Amino acid sequence: MTPSYMLSSLLHLLYPSICLGCFNEEIENTEFLCLDCLLQLPYTGFEKIQGNATEKMFWGRIEYRFICSIFYFIPGSPIQQIIHNIKYKNEKELAIFMGRLMAHRIQLLLQQHQIDFAIPMPLHKKKQYIRGYNQASLLCEGISEITQIPYNETGLKRIEHTSTQTKKSRMERWENVADVFEVTDIEMMRGKNILIIDDVITTGASTEACAQTLLSQGAGSVSICSLAFTL
Ligand SMILES: [Zn+2]
Repeated sequence: MTPSYMLSSLLHLLYPSICLGCFNEEIENTEFLCLDCLLQLPYTGFEKIQGNATEKMFWGRIEYRFICSIFYFIPGSPIQQIIHNIKYKNEKELAIFMGRLMAHRIQLLLQQHQIDFAIPMPLHKKKQYIRGYNQASLLCEGISEITQIPYNETGLKRIEHTSTQTKKSRMERWENVADVFEVTDIEMMRGKNILIIDDVITTGASTEACAQTLLSQGAGSVSICSLAFTL
């Protein structure tokens, strides 16, 4: 993140009617970016590309309907700051706003694939308690506002790491990632076309584990959409 961007971010907190990107344009209080800055965000266009880079990560790993990311995660760009703020700075309204942006991009896919509901990538209970919220749930909230597709925050949970796991080597823990989700409401998942919503996809390991868990518990299909994709 650039110092000037940190400054504009701070100023946006003090003066919410100023664009978070350029700190020039006046905007509505409920918006975060002016039209120019919105258009300059690093959109991937993946939602229109079959075999896009996010999708390729999951080839041969899971069965899916569609997979895409909306933005490239570019270090130093406003998108990095936005993600930082929604994860660690309690900027819940910003997360919902980004969810709305995602919704406009994937609306057609949701219809085509008859998505029944979205599931936010669950956080560890402890992490969510400390943070006070799950940013992926807030993305879902924004998506739901625009598309009317409901979301389910309780049907899937992360299983807590046991103390023995923390003693394992990094590589062993990495392998353990594959087994950290649990469906709490199997009836609700049965036969449903489910969309997993994540903030950033980096290796895809957790998202894959999440999808596998849903499929093994009777989900009809899974699709995945993340706010950002790490190059
Ligand atoms: Zn702007």
